[in-house]
Amino acid sequence: MAAPLDNPVFGLIGRTAAECGARAYVIGGFVRDHFLGRPCCDIDVVVTGSGVQVAERLGERLGVKVSTFKNFGTAMLRYRGLEIEFVGARKESYRADSRKPVVEDGTLEDDQNRRDFTINAMAFSLNEDDFGELVDPFGGIDDLKAGIIRTPLDPDTTFSDDPLRMVRAIRFATQLGMTVTAECIEAIRRNRERIAIISRERITAETEKIIMSQRPSRGFFLFDKTGLLELVYPDLYRLKGVEKRGGRAHKDNFVHTLKVLDNVAAAGGDEWLRWAALLHDIAKPRTKSWDDRVGWTFHNHEFVGARMVKGIFKAWRLPLDHKMRFVEKMVLLHLRPIALVEDEVTDSAVRRLLFDAGDDIEPLMTLCRADITSGDDRKVARYLRNFDTVESKMRQIEEKDRIRNFQPPISGELIMRTYGIEPCSAVGQIKNAIKDAILDGRIANDYDEAYRLMTELAAEIIPDKKPLA
Ligand code: ATP
Ligand code: MG
Repeated sequence: MAAPLDNPVFGLIGRTAAECGARAYVIGGFVRDHFLGRPCCDIDVVVTGSGVQVAERLGERLGVKVSTFKNFGTAMLRYRGLEIEFVGARKESYRADSRKPVVEDGTLEDDQNRRDFTINAMAFSLNEDDFGELVDPFGGIDDLKAGIIRTPLDPDTTFSDDPLRMVRAIRFATQLGMTVTAECIEAIRRNRERIAIISRERITAETEKIIMSQRPSRGFFLFDKTGLLELVYPDLYRLKGVEKRGGRAHKDNFVHTLKVLDNVAAAGGDEWLRWAALLHDIAKPRTKSWDDRVGWTFHNHEFVGARMVKGIFKAWRLPLDHKMRFVEKMVLLHLRPIALVEDEVTDSAVRRLLFDAGDDIEPLMTLCRADITSGDDRKVARYLRNFDTVESKMRQIEEKDRIRNFQPPISGELIMRTYGIEPCSAVGQIKNAIKDAILDGRIANDYDEAYRLMTELAAEIIPDKKPLA
């Protein structure tokens, strides 16, 4: 492991603090990540005294700009790829209705007491007399080695003071593959209603780190175990459970969804495909019904689910832009490849799927493969083989017909100009019929063939109109 403080800037911080009559320590994430061997460019420095003063003096010395936030008593500067934040050591006390504490100046120990977890409360001294010494009053290093997340002080106080810490506990456990102590789990359960004072943006920011982890399911199982799921993600909570009728049970859609999410993560899916995995079956509870002949059904859950995406993105404060539309599209189309496999893989069906998915066909196929979570290995293997067939057929057809970014060769504009007509239903009818003929393979994706079909269709649909010369 590289020496943690071999960058000369650390010594300089210590000397600058001494000149201001203060002591400085690097604390929190940087120290933790050093022991985990994770690279970290965010450096938090706590100063017993004025953090702003030390930052300003250091900024002068290094010739870099310092941004100060006087109201918060913090200052930040950037130096050679590092982002260094300075804050005065503080002691915090909380009121019940807010996560904004009353803050007073404090000692290093006070500052460590207000930290969320023991693994985040460790500090290295930057001062000449004990430079590089680890200050670890709560055994953070042992917890890190044992893979344990726990609070420095009484967990009920820590979680109730700032309930965001409940979600952070789950996030760190998921991200670092660690375990939240039973005591902390119980404390989160007891304090879970306090989550109501936390802004949705904060919860989503932590959840993004959860879903970007190697095994995101851990986080959502912890949301469930702590009772937070129902409060924070009610739509996911509703996916839970199995109902049985006449000996026929449907699968637990919460467990299934999380398996799909893990599969997408393992396949290297990006953030938006991961949200799509989390939401792909979101409408199953709403569409569930019982049919005496076939058992449990979830008809149209892909359509209903796609329509739920926007409201959910709004509620979760996720962006309402092309990323949301991508998720809608994935939810809407997630059954198409499998339906294709179950029927016969016709060229026409493959063309339609390529047309509807466009450039998103690859992530869609990743999602569909991830969606196969049967416990029956033979069945899984068979489905995956069938997907291989579909994909090779897609490649052939794409090469031949270039469907992915397909624009029908005859536009509505051209139809109107040719027949000297205004926009009307006949234009749409002709245009769609041409598109269908190409997707069905009845005519080639070619201007001349499409033009010929247009004249045939027009003769039927608008017999009184003749092409203008
Ligand atoms: P990462 O940057 O990887 O998300 P981090 O531990 O650096 O992890 P930050 O949010 O950057 O997390 O916070 C820096 C440090 O500030 C933490 O290590 C922790 O000591 C402290 N901290 C952050 N948020 C809280 C909180 N809500 N309650 C108590 N301490 C906190
Ligand atoms: Mg950080």
